[in-house]
Amino acid sequence: MLAIDVFTSDYKPIAATAPGWDSGVGATWPASTATLVHGRREAVLVDALITVAEAHRLADFVRATGKVLTTVYVTHGHADHFLGLPVVLDAFPEAVAVALPEVVPHAEAQLTGPVLAYWESLFPGALPAAPVAPRALTGDVIELEGHELRPVRVGQSDTDPSTVLHVPDLDAVVGGDVAYNGIHMWLAQTDSRARERWLGALDTLEALRPARLVAGHQPPGADDRDAAAVIAASRRYLTDFEAAVEAGADARDVVRAMNRAHGDRGNPYTLYVSAAAQFPPGD
Ligand SMILES: [Zn+2]
Repeated sequence: MLAIDVFTSDYKPIAATAPGWDSGVGATWPASTATLVHGRREAVLVDALITVAEAHRLADFVRATGKVLTTVYVTHGHADHFLGLPVVLDAFPEAVAVALPEVVPHAEAQLTGPVLAYWESLFPGALPAAPVAPRALTGDVIELEGHELRPVRVGQSDTDPSTVLHVPDLDAVVGGDVAYNGIHMWLAQTDSRARERWLGALDTLEALRPARLVAGHQPPGADDRDAAAVIAASRRYLTDFEAAVEAGADARDVVRAMNRAHGDRGNPYTLYVSAAAQFPPGD
């Protein structure tokens, strides 16, 4: 018998912002999840957050279940999903951190000079001093007390390569950043073609027919038990954004159009950065 428990770290203020952000409210990093899939005795964690403080709270959350953590699975190479690893692995020295082989170099690249400096500028003094990347998973499956947890390659989401973790015995998917629940989607690193491919990733996710979908970014207390609705809303967000970029003269137009249709989503700073990235200066 398996179960899923979700740890959610709330929106976090960030120290540095993209040029032009002047909404009058402080910029934040989106609320983020780390998901524990557990059996009678053992547990597998999906993603590991970013700051030392939240990773400690995450480790406490895992410890409180009394389960033995065997594995941390990292869905994709963005640092906000795995920089917390050293804290979690210190707390559970038996556990190994893994990702699909093609994700590993991506994660490693986040730990190099300029990229790590970017993350450090957002969260000064709050990140682990000795970050580590996951290593390559051998085989296609993570075994948990006789149940199979299946990494599924989806290609493009807010980065490429991206994956989700399918838990067939629970009709559940731990979705990384393929679908967002109630939070603006990070489109800053996408162009029109990438967003087209992202729609394909949502098709792949939908084909797994999950009942429950835990998004990598969802607010505390979010309803994650209507996967079809979360997938449909993510699809709509991508197509509306595409239309807004097509029709808009500048980032401001895109923000305005998206706020009309999706203004109830959290983390407006994400929308600002995503829109600005579509109109690079001098273009
Ligand atoms: Zn993310």
